[in-house]
This record gives sequence, C-alpha cells and structure tokens, in this order.
Amino acid sequence: MNGMNFGVTAQTSTSRPCPLCHSTRNEFVASVSAVQVIESSPYYDDSFYEAFGITPETRFALSRCLDCSLVFSSEIPSEEVLQRLYRVDTASVEDMVGVFARPGRAAFAFESLSKLLTALDRRLPRDAQGRVSDGVRILDVGCAFGVGISGLTREFFPYEVSGVEGSIVVRDYLTRSGVTTYARLDDIPCGSVFDGIILNDVLEHVPEPMIFASRLLDFCHPGSVLWINVPNFIDWRMDAVVEMIAKGGQVPKDLNPWEHLSYFSPRTLDALMGRAGFKRLELSSVEYRLECHSLAGTVKTAIRALRDIWRLYRKRYPGLVSTSGLFVPDATALSRSL
Ligand SMILES: [Zn+2]
Repeated sequence: MNGMNFGVTAQTSTSRPCPLCHSTRNEFVASVSAVQVIESSPYYDDSFYEAFGITPETRFALSRCLDCSLVFSSEIPSEEVLQRLYRVDTASVEDMVGVFARPGRAAFAFESLSKLLTALDRRLPRDAQGRVSDGVRILDVGCAFGVGISGLTREFFPYEVSGVEGSIVVRDYLTRSGVTTYARLDDIPCGSVFDGIILNDVLEHVPEPMIFASRLLDFCHPGSVLWINVPNFIDWRMDAVVEMIAKGGQVPKDLNPWEHLSYFSPRTLDALMGRAGFKRLELSSVEYRLECHSLAGTVKTAIRALRDIWRLYRKRYPGLVSTSGLFVPDATALSRSL
C-alpha cells in the first residue's frame, strides 16, 4: 500500500485499488483542495496546514471503481499521519467529550443502540420476564468516549460492554466508565464472541473496510447482530458534492479525503458487507442507477422498480436509502470462519 505523506502532492492520475472489490479499474472523480476541506469543517483551523506540512492548495483526489462503483480517496495517508490525526491528549478529553456527547450525537448513539438491543431482544434466549440468562456481550468498535454503551455498565445491569479505541487517553476514560477496552481488534482475546457489535462512523475511516469488516466474523456467533452507520454518499448526493468541489467553495463536512477514505452509498455498503460475510437483517435499503443507454439496462431497472414497489407496499423497506442498518453474519461465511 502506498503511504501518502502530507506535503507530497496528491497525485490525480493514479489511484490505489478499490478497497471494496480490489479492482484496479477506476476513474478520476474530483480533486478537492485542502482549503475547501479545512474551511468547511468546524474541527480544523489554519494551524492544520503547518502541523501536517500541506498548503491550502494541496489537492486530494477521489476515484470511482469501474467494477463496483465505490468512490474512495485515491491515496491514503501514511500510518504516521493517521496516528497524528487521531491522537488525543489528556488536556483535551473534557472538551472532546462535550463534542461527542452533544445532544444530536448522543441521540444518534442511543437510537442506534436502541435498534441493536431491539434486534437482540428478539434473538437472545429469555425467561418469562424477558430476562436474559447470561450477560449480553456488546462490542463498540471505534467507540470514542462510549456515548450510549456506557449507559449499560451500571451495577447489576445484564451487560458486558467492550470497546475498541486507539487512543490510550480515551481508553483510560472508558475504563473508568466500566467499559472493557482494547486498542485494536487484534487485541481481543481469541475465541471471544459478542451478541451485538456497533460500528458507528468507523468503516469510512479504515483504509481496508472490506478486510476490516470480514475480521468481525471471528467475533460472531449465529445469533450476533451488527449495527453499522457510515455517511451516505448515495449517487445523486455524490454528484452534487462533485459539483460543489468544482465550484471551489465549501463542501459538506463529511467530505474529508484524509479522514474519510471510502464514500459509501446504500448499495456499495451492502456490497461490502456481503463480501465480508454479512447480510442485512431486514431489507431496509434500495437504490437505483438509472441506465437508459441500453434497452436491457432499462428493462432490468424497470423490473427491479416493480419488485421494490411491491416490497414497499408490503412494508419490507422501513427506510428507502439508508447507509445505517442492522446486519447479521451469513451462515455460510460464518461456518467457513469457524
Ligand atoms: Zn470496486
């Protein structure tokens, strides 16, 4: 993998292979300048340029895979840059907790936890009063300050809560909140399994999301459920963002080519999870690329549209175009990983 040190001009003519399907066939989508990203984000200021050795004009390219249509950062930052990006010092913990636990973010964390627990309630063995016999094992990958999960760590609560978090300062904070912590997936003891796994805003940050997701199979049993959320770059939104980049002004703050290395649509998220060995718990997403340049493509799209109208009518699609959702291990993939 080519490490990219900031300060070296991002190339626009070459790209890494697709992190979903590993195809090397891709096209250039756009290149965004550092100033566009930094001025669009409330979390950066001008000190970023010097700290990371870039100028406002440094450009970062995006590619689209010609085989699976995933859009991704053409290059990934070097390990050193990634570590500096996500470093947290003790002094800033209090400040950062305020950001991570702000009402909007906390609401989302509790909403996703609620969906996960609702799904687990249907799947785990319970007694007549709804009690589970053993502790419900929850793993939050990239859990930051444990907003949501640390609400399950009270005395006598029937949960065992674990979190994966790179920063040692954050892990100390989580340990004080009763969360068992690991620095990396590799540090989780071999043979550990979890009933519920959370990945809130994680897959877009990792350089190899398909490989990362497939490793989660090792921590699953047949009844495990995953909750996943990534920013939604459905085709029409990506097209609009590319136009904004071209105009040179502000861009949405979830377009950040050194932090967000993949830009999923509902379709590419499902494709990635499928390759990794998971399937949607419910069909909760549908998306179209209208292909009218061939008769066969148009007919195929029309047939899919009719099928999905039927599914909508039968209420089998709770959300139309979501990059959030519940996934379960595919039985065949799970038996291979055991
Ligand atoms: Zn691909």
